[in-house]
Amino acid sequence: MRLALFGAEGKVGSVLVPVLERAGHEVRGIELGDEPDVAGLDAAVDFTSPDAAPENVRAALEQGVSCVVGTTGWDPQPLHELAASRGLRLFVAPNFSIGAVLMMRFAGEAAEYFPRAEIIELHNEAKKDAPSGTAAATARLIGGDPVIHSVRLPGLVAHQEVIFGGEGQLLTIRHDTTARESFADGVLLALEKLDSLPPGLTVGLEALL
Ligand code: NAP
Repeated sequence: MRLALFGAEGKVGSVLVPVLERAGHEVRGIELGDEPDVAGLDAAVDFTSPDAAPENVRAALEQGVSCVVGTTGWDPQPLHELAASRGLRLFVAPNFSIGAVLMMRFAGEAAEYFPRAEIIELHNEAKKDAPSGTAAATARLIGGDPVIHSVRLPGLVAHQEVIFGGEGQLLTIRHDTTARESFADGVLLALEKLDSLPPGLTVGLEALL
């Protein structure tokens, strides 16, 4: 596919470019200050910031280009109508790592059997939003408004623990992203399945698995 990548020089974007190119995609990197000129491309991918993503996605949709978005900390719902009315897809995933999606699924199952849970999410100190999109999605899945602890420190990439407490027992479900390549498989999967999704907004990698 011919792709635009908003945030191509960022921590995730710079890892994605070679992976997308190796998979046969042609990538046009768009950075802060560049014109969001994506007309005629097959899809746009966004890994920028919660401030930048809404405008990037709106610009792409207005130019007739479907989007795959990894940026967290913003609400894509207001753009559903714009995408749907133009027959375009807006796919947003709070976590593109398949292991993290399984961690959320297992946590959802465990929640049926334990009365209490808390979530600890740990990310690199540069991450702007807290709690993480993955932690917020896990909390919705578990239900009962679990407490979320957010840790921001150098040396971390993306990690999450869901701790369930019951009478005389604890269950911990943990996922560690040790390198940003872990997000690439999910992005490739989303691009592959993009045209098969219904027009408008789809949220979560689990919708593709
Ligand atoms: P990052 O290193 O800060 O990279 C963001 C990049 O976007 C930077 O190069 C930044 O440029 C650029 N940018 C800012 N505004 C822009 C605009 N208007 N148009 C185009 N580019 C723009 O952040 P990151 O760690 O790569 O993460 C990016 C986003 O992805 C964050 O929201 C993070 O939470 C999310 N994320 C999601 C997943 C997932 O699986 N869904 C995984 C990891 C990260 P400047 O440096 O010049 O500002």
